[in-house]
Amino acid sequence: MRLLVVEDEPRMAAALAKGLRAEGFVVDIENDGPGGLEAARFGGYDAVVLDIMLPGLSGYSVVRTLREEQNWVPVLMLSAKDGDYDQADGLDYGADDYLTKPFSFVVLLARLRALVRRGATPRATVLEVGGLRLEPSSHRVEVDGEPVDLSRREFLVLDHLMRRHPAVVTRESLLDDVWGSESVHGNVAEVYIGYLRRKLGRDRIETIRGVGYRLRS
Ligand code: CA
Repeated sequence: MRLLVVEDEPRMAAALAKGLRAEGFVVDIENDGPGGLEAARFGGYDAVVLDIMLPGLSGYSVVRTLREEQNWVPVLMLSAKDGDYDQADGLDYGADDYLTKPFSFVVLLARLRALVRRGATPRATVLEVGGLRLEPSSHRVEVDGEPVDLSRREFLVLDHLMRRHPAVVTRESLLDDVWGSESVHGNVAEVYIGYLRRKLGRDRIETIRGVGYRLRS
């Protein structure tokens, strides 16, 4: 059984690898988001253990990208409950299971074995809010049945809003999810909300003053 561990904290990565190898798994380690994505795409792993907070690309982005590419390798996310992140978010993005740090190694092992046994499971890939319909796998977006062309960034912003609907999305969580570690001006989220309003209709996205944005149902 081959496992990929994507974790940027060296001690955590080493401890995981050691423990999993002792259980007979073949383990590869990647320590940032882009490396993890690349390895998960091409490595032929039986499962991936994926941290959320990673340099370069978050674990959310890694798992979402894999699912968009119809890659259903079982993914177990490791989440630290902090900031805007909710441990269950990973499931919305296409992870199969999650554990909150700190976790027991025995529990991790049991969950991983269950995932490997279950194997790759394709999941529903259509999001719908009001008259908006979005297919992550094919990047298709429709407004009241009419296809709309969105740039990749516009698509990611809309995807983020739809997955969290009816919650209000903060500017910070948008920046983090869509732009990750790129250094961009804080206004960029507002600019893209503006682009989306032009393409989808003014009234589809509400601004909640001082908080963020929300889709209207
Ligand atoms: Ca981390």
